[in-house]
Amino acid sequence: MSDFAIGVDVGGTKALAVVVSDNGTVVDQLRSGTPHGRDADPGARAAEVVADQVLELSRRQGIDPRCVPIGVGLPGLMRRDGHLAFAPNLQSASGSDLGALLGDALGRSSIVAENDANCAAIAEHAWGAGRDIDDFVMVTLGTGIGGGIVADGQLVRGHSGFAGEIGHMVVEANGALCRCGARGCWERYASGGGLQRLSREAALDGRLPTVVARVGAANRVKGEDVTRAAAEGLDEAVAVIDRVGWWLALGLANLTAILDTGCFVVGGGLSEVAGLVLPSARTHLAGLVEGYDARATITIVESAFGSLSGAMGAALVAFERAS
Ligand SMILES: [Zn+2]
Repeated sequence: MSDFAIGVDVGGTKALAVVVSDNGTVVDQLRSGTPHGRDADPGARAAEVVADQVLELSRRQGIDPRCVPIGVGLPGLMRRDGHLAFAPNLQSASGSDLGALLGDALGRSSIVAENDANCAAIAEHAWGAGRDIDDFVMVTLGTGIGGGIVADGQLVRGHSGFAGEIGHMVVEANGALCRCGARGCWERYASGGGLQRLSREAALDGRLPTVVARVGAANRVKGEDVTRAAAEGLDEAVAVIDRVGWWLALGLANLTAILDTGCFVVGGGLSEVAGLVLPSARTHLAGLVEGYDARATITIVESAFGSLSGAMGAALVAFERAS
């Protein structure tokens, strides 16, 4: 078996590639922007970006890109045959077989592809916050919300391989329009995109006067302006973060009603602000879960690897495929 694998997490805004050793140590990493918009040749430009990352990391680490196990995590509905059937947050690759395109670009056989949040769940289960936990839900907060469900120690895949699309649970009938085409999806409220939207809304409503004064105009307020101000303890910003925490808790309460997992591992690109959002989600969860006091403790923990878990899990899937 190879000592190293390359994993790439292709997100809605960036692709993160890592070189991982077989004990789960990240020895190198590289970030690049991902192409946007609909593409005449879906997946081709995304495959170019990822192939460049693989070649650069291989050069830096003295690895042969034609032999090293490579796995790719993708944001969307992944068919069991590796096709990215539907990717609302990565339309440039929606419908493509990125694994095959990458194989072509690198002059080797097809590369293993898996849903990005499933990858994160696999990495956290093997090496991180889900280690030795048989029942948990991985919740990745990024551009959207991804999910990976582990039950009885196994990843739940579902009928078509699409299980765990938790970001598209509808939490507000006729709510905000989602990129998937529906309204009121959870990811429009509790992801990085949700934080951005709720921050802008609060600024335009006059609920963030100090933050607006800092950035110059209400329509220029971004999620990170609010998280920065909340970290300083500014009440108006803390209130917006608390609202995001409430929405996060609402989705977790729904998942608890269905799955009774008892543990949520929260990661993804927004995990940098987990220290602000999670305490509020934990507080609100008690009031939102059916029979909260009758249940065993429900824990919400930060992922061990933050924004790296998806790429690490993609590498782990590649190791498993190669062995
Ligand atoms: Zn949706």
